[in-house]
Amino acid sequence: MTGEAHREHTDHPNATTDPSQRRSVLVTGVVQGVGFRPFVYRLATEEHLVGHIGNDTDGVTIEIEGPPPRISSFLERLQSELPPLARIDAISVSELDPKLDTSFLIVSSQVKGQVSTGIPADAATCADCLRELFDPADRRYRYPFLNCTNCGPRFTITRRIPYDRPQTSMAKFAMCPSCQAEYDDPLNRRFHAQPNACWQCGPQVWLESPDGSRLDSADPIQTAIDRLLSGEVVAIKGIGGFHLSVDATSDSAVIRLRNRKHRYGKPLAVMVRDLDAAHSLCLLTAVEESLLQTSARPIVLARARAQNGIAPSVAPGVPWLGIYLPYAPLQHLLFTDARVKALVMTSANLSEEPIAIDNDEARARLGAIADVFLMHDREILQRCDDSVASVVDGVPQLIRRARGYVPLGIPLPFDTPPLLAVGGHLKNVFTLARGRHAYQSQHLGDLENLTSLEFFKESLDHLTRTFEIEPEHVVHDLHPGYLSTTWARQWASERNLPLISVQHHHAHIAACMAEHALEGPVIGLSLDGTGYGSDGRIWGGEVLLARLDRFDQFAHLEYAPMPGGEAAIHEPWRMAFGHLVHAGVPLDEAKSLVGATDAECRLLARMIERGINTPGTSSLGRLFDAVAAVVLSRRQVDYEAQAAIELEGVCVDETDAPAYATEYISGDWTRRRPGQIRVASLWRDVVTDLHSGVEKPRMAARFHAAIAAAFVHAAASAREATDVTQVVLSGGCMHNRRLARLLSQGLEAAGFSVFQQRNVSPGDGGLSYGQAVVGAAILRSHGTHAVS
Ligand SMILES: [Zn+2]
Ligand SMILES: [Zn+2]
Ligand SMILES: [Zn+2]
Repeated sequence: MTGEAHREHTDHPNATTDPSQRRSVLVTGVVQGVGFRPFVYRLATEEHLVGHIGNDTDGVTIEIEGPPPRISSFLERLQSELPPLARIDAISVSELDPKLDTSFLIVSSQVKGQVSTGIPADAATCADCLRELFDPADRRYRYPFLNCTNCGPRFTITRRIPYDRPQTSMAKFAMCPSCQAEYDDPLNRRFHAQPNACWQCGPQVWLESPDGSRLDSADPIQTAIDRLLSGEVVAIKGIGGFHLSVDATSDSAVIRLRNRKHRYGKPLAVMVRDLDAAHSLCLLTAVEESLLQTSARPIVLARARAQNGIAPSVAPGVPWLGIYLPYAPLQHLLFTDARVKALVMTSANLSEEPIAIDNDEARARLGAIADVFLMHDREILQRCDDSVASVVDGVPQLIRRARGYVPLGIPLPFDTPPLLAVGGHLKNVFTLARGRHAYQSQHLGDLENLTSLEFFKESLDHLTRTFEIEPEHVVHDLHPGYLSTTWARQWASERNLPLISVQHHHAHIAACMAEHALEGPVIGLSLDGTGYGSDGRIWGGEVLLARLDRFDQFAHLEYAPMPGGEAAIHEPWRMAFGHLVHAGVPLDEAKSLVGATDAECRLLARMIERGINTPGTSSLGRLFDAVAAVVLSRRQVDYEAQAAIELEGVCVDETDAPAYATEYISGDWTRRRPGQIRVASLWRDVVTDLHSGVEKPRMAARFHAAIAAAFVHAAASAREATDVTQVVLSGGCMHNRRLARLLSQGLEAAGFSVFQQRNVSPGDGGLSYGQAVVGAAILRSHGTHAVS
């Protein structure tokens, strides 16, 4: 907000008799590049008001003048008739002296001061544009880049704000007279639609072979379809990067793609023509249906139907399918051929590298994967993967927040000085915060190589420029070995900025607290993979007593040996062996339960006994892995959390089953002696069930029930000690739908208020938002002298 001392607007009861009045109206939120100015122009004209509207870096400033009842009606309609992509965060109205203008004008953009409104997110093709796309009489019939103020690319084509054509990659395309006329007409749907284009003046598509030579084709899109249907791998340039595509109904095509991409187990996303096609593949709830159709068009993980025609190699080992609908005209055109049922559309990269965006980069990196390239000449300026969401406990939850959501601000519960929170290690996302807003970067991938670090720097550079945020503090994870930590230290020292380190599981809880504007204390269940604990140990199954700026460890899952450290994450059988031995299961039995050889068994037993490269961990994610290794014989994983995901998947249709036993050992948190959840009895129950031939789904269900019951019990013990009744759930394990449901049911039945994350991922994708919140809370309560 501007902070100027204007008088707030109030309605006068006998306003109708008043002469003309003038108001200044400052609107902040998502109000640029979304058709807001023409909308206001239309409203003002209909209400016979004069004045003007202009974009500036604070948002949109409107001055209106006319009879007070007209002004009131204008202000009411401003909120009730908002264009689909616009979002109002705040309106401040103040009185001005009448200027007796003669008309209402749209004035050109001005740039001043701090930026609180950014670039809108990319939005799926709207219904009006879609109609034109398939209308043979329309001048944009089958034009792969049509858009209007209600749809089209935004973030991914923008260099800096304000969001105007010269600042985008459309700058090089001069509009033809017809496009220019639409662009200049305040009553046209394309008024100031920055990417406005047509066949005559805009970007074009073409086909290329992997050696870079252009392929002659009168209709490159139809040729691409033919190549897809013949089983080839096609690289398709999209909105936020290239996709690799194959026919999702052809097992051999999918396997060819997997082999070339070196991605064997991880489920691939599938794009389908429309909602009907989505229904034919998946059992969709109403919430999933509307999630699929939002303008962000995320990939939605939904329950797959049996025998749905999708190749088994698309999503092996899980009962869900990641499906989404076309969001760009080019994608809609791929589905005009009735033979195209479903297309694998996966990020064009090698394993966890950033998605390719540049034509030359794509030729170099994808040349050995794709048989043919469907290229275009509209430059992608920001890499942005597809977003991923799923419905957890009846409510949408973002797993990966990227295209369609970035760079929309996420509110903060209180004011913060400008700061940068760098996130963690896996699924990195950083957060820039200032005032009441946090801006999360797009999903940047695992920060373990230089390519990802380059992407991190490139995105940071873009977002700091976009929002004109100059960080005054840098927040990082407590882990000294993370690349993000090393980078943060270096970057801060070059700029002489103070650093704040935040414990991983506290950051998860704080992220959820901030989303619900909770100040604490709360009981935080941080149920996660692994993170660096305040005591230097590997945490991940934590019961915290948390405020925003500090926390105490009330209890945790008992430590179990992790033979081989990192290796135990990739080979869950090691983790299972560690757990079994720790639970007192004889070595010989443990060996056969995890399918180890004599040599493996001897080696691991020695490692555990002598503590060689065998840290202990209280991670719940690792316990899931260990149980999956035993119940599902999942010895190794191809992607992060695969074993745990499969364990959830195997019991997707299983009814609730009695919990395996666990034990709670009380501690004294005031003396830093946390309580412990012990799982030796759980392992004894698992072994008994295995020996008596209990079905896998039932065993998985009993395990989920045991974990939920154990943490509900620990929460009750925390309530007894502190009288705190609010429970906050976070950490990567909260992506597990069954666990999330059982926990919230159990906690609510025990009388707790339960809070889960929605707009920010409970996994490591949401970590930096939590870090920013903790950093800001520390600065608020202790000032800058509290940080190093
Ligand atoms: Zn449109
Ligand atoms: Zn044109
Ligand atoms: Zn985590």
